Amino acid sequence: MNYKNFKSVDKCVFGRGSFSQLREIIDAKKKSEDDYFVFLLDDVFAGKPMEHNLPLQNGDKLILVNVDKEPTTDQMDALTAKVHSFGKLPAGLIGIGGGSVMDVAKALSMLVTNEGPATQYQGLNLIKNPAIYKVGVPTLAGTGAEVSMTAVLTGPVKKLGIKCEYTMFDQIILDPNLIADAPIEQRFYTGMDSYIHCVESLTGTKNNAFSMAFGEKALELCKDIFLDPFTSREEADDKLMIASYMGGLSLTYSEVGVCHALSYGLSFVFGTRHGIANCIAFDKLEEVYGEGVIHFRRMLSLNSVTLPKDLAKDWTEDEISKMADVAYALEHMWIHAYGNDWKEKVNKEKIMNWYKMM
Ligand code: NAD
Ligand code: ZN
Repeated sequence: MNYKNFKSVDKCVFGRGSFSQLREIIDAKKKSEDDYFVFLLDDVFAGKPMEHNLPLQNGDKLILVNVDKEPTTDQMDALTAKVHSFGKLPAGLIGIGGGSVMDVAKALSMLVTNEGPATQYQGLNLIKNPAIYKVGVPTLAGTGAEVSMTAVLTGPVKKLGIKCEYTMFDQIILDPNLIADAPIEQRFYTGMDSYIHCVESLTGTKNNAFSMAFGEKALELCKDIFLDPFTSREEADDKLMIASYMGGLSLTYSEVGVCHALSYGLSFVFGTRHGIANCIAFDKLEEVYGEGVIHFRRMLSLNSVTLPKDLAKDWTEDEISKMADVAYALEHMWIHAYGNDWKEKVNKEKIMNWYKMM
C-alpha cells in the first residue's frame, strides 16, 4: 500500500477534571463480575495524592512503573510475566504517566496476548493477536505517544517501536490538571518534543495537506505556550495537551527528521531521555531547520531553561561513531528530511560532526 491506512484512538475525553470520569468509562467495559483492571502508574506519583485518588475497586491491581530509564524490552517482559501471574487477563490496562508509561501500557496490552519476548515484536506489523483494552492518561504533554501507533522500546540491539494497529489506545483522557505540577524543565523538554515534531514534519519531503493542517496549528499553539509571556500557565497547559495530540497526528501522515535521528543515537548510546536529547540535537541544527532553531533558542531563554553544554568533549570517537551508526540507520527519517537521494547529501562523517558540536 502506497498510502498509510492508519488507525485513530477510538475515544478521547478532554478537559480539566475529566480524569474523574475514568471509573465510569472503564466500568462500561466490564463484562463479568470477576473482571478487573490493571493500573500502571508512573512511580513518581507513589505516595502522592494521584496514587491515593486512583479509582481502584475490588480485584483491580496497581503496578508502579519506574521510568528512570525509558522503557526497555526486559522491563516489558517482566511486566508481562507479572500480569500473567494474576491468572485471568485483565479487562483493561490504564496507563498514567508521561510518554514512557504511555508506551509501557501500549506495549503491555499486546504482549500479554502474544507469546514470547518483546524483542521479537520490535518493528512493523509483527504482532499477531489483538491487544487487550487500554486507556492512556498523560501526565506530561508533548510526545504525542497518546495518539501514535508506536510503543517505543529499547532492546539490547535497537531502540525501535512495536508498531501496528493494536498499539492504538482505545481511550485517552486528556486532563490538563494532571500536567500542572510537572517540573518546569521536564515540562519544557517534553513540550519541545511536540514543537520539534511539527518543525520536522512540516519541513520534509513527506509533508502534505494532512500533516500540514495539524502541524501548523500545533506549531502555533507551541508558540503561544512557550513564546508568549501573556499566556497563563493554565491556558498554556490546555494548549500543550492539544499541541501534543495534533503534533502526533501531523507525524502520522508525515515523518520526523534529522533531529530525531540524532536524538535516537544519543538515547541509545547514553540513555539520554527523548525530550532533552531532542533539545540537545535541535540546538545544533540551524543549518537544517533555520528559523525553527532560532525560535527554539528564544523559547529556551524565555523559559529559563539551560541546555547542557560541551558534552562531546567527554565522548570517545567510538561512542560518536556508534551514535552516528544508529542515526544513519534511520533511513526513513533521512529520506523525509533530504529526499530519496539523501545519501548524496549526508554521510556518516557529517553526522559525526553534528555530534561533535553538542
Ligand atoms: P517520561 O514519561 O519519560 O517521563 C520523564 C520524567 O518525568 C520521569 O522521571 C517521570 O517519572 C516524570 N514525570 C512524568 N509525569 C510527571 C508529572 N506530572 N510530574 C512530575 N514528574 C513527572 O517523559 P516524556 O517526555 O513524556 O516521554 C518520553 C518517552 O516517550 C520516551 O520513552 C520516548 O521514547 C517516548 N516517546 C514515544 C513516542 C511514541 O510515539 N510512542 C513519541 C515520542 C516519545
Ligand atoms: Zn519525539
